[in-house]
Amino acid sequence: MTYAGVEIGGTKIVVAFGAGPEDLCDRVRIPTTAPDETLEALFKVLEARRARSGLRAVGVATFGPVRLDPGAADHGRLLATPKPGWSGVDLLGVLRGLGLPIGLDTDVNGAALGEGRWGACAGLADHAYITVGTGVGVGLVVNGAPVHGALHPELGHLPVRRDPASDPFVGACPFHGDCLEGLVSGAALAARLGRPAETLSTDDPLWGLVSDYLAQMIVALTYTIAPRRIVLGGGVGQTPHVLSRTRERVASWLGGYLPDLRRPGVLEDYLVAPALGENSGVLGAIVLAENASA
Ligand code: ZN
Repeated sequence: MTYAGVEIGGTKIVVAFGAGPEDLCDRVRIPTTAPDETLEALFKVLEARRARSGLRAVGVATFGPVRLDPGAADHGRLLATPKPGWSGVDLLGVLRGLGLPIGLDTDVNGAALGEGRWGACAGLADHAYITVGTGVGVGLVVNGAPVHGALHPELGHLPVRRDPASDPFVGACPFHGDCLEGLVSGAALAARLGRPAETLSTDDPLWGLVSDYLAQMIVALTYTIAPRRIVLGGGVGQTPHVLSRTRERVASWLGGYLPDLRRPGVLEDYLVAPALGENSGVLGAIVLAENASA
């Protein structure tokens, strides 16, 4: 019997089965449409696998915000989300119908767990995973455990310093305008440009702004939880040059503070690309499943 890893994203759900990267198999993609239809399709995939060869547990790494506090009345429900129709959806309630242990966390905490177990942060107890794609999210692992307190980290919405003279774009976040996500997410870049960010050349000055805003958040993350390594993932995060430019801007924002991070080669080892590629999240969900069945 093996585990199911489920990554629930805004456009698709990815399901895969296995105990780790070596035996990850039978990947299924389900488009994220209306909640009833989508979750019914997910339930059928999991139920069919369980009936055929058994399942030990299911791990779910989902977009948020989502209630993770087991003591809360709305534990396992999505909270107010911009995704139409999904606010209040009872993810955990639907999946409990399987009668299996269910591990639940955010997509980014899941990705952090996956990279921590088998990827770029293997062997480290304190690390972070940043995704810059359609939105911006940050997963944190501290002392080996994903961080959630009253809710879960929402560092994608960190206010950052924007100079209107060099960047007149007022931001695309419906809540904050020019928070980090409102300035650098794929959606924000498309709103700035009137076309997808993939069409930008790698030497476009906009990448300099993107790297600068990301660096401000990374410095804030460094000052608050002092991670040992930070992974920068997601479609925008993995754009060529963004990683190296962001390291340069991190060095600049540190301003000579924390000299350990300024030694030659240290930032290259501190801020890194994902090692698990597109599998960080689904492998993290496998870790969640394993933890749930322990
Ligand atoms: Zn915001």
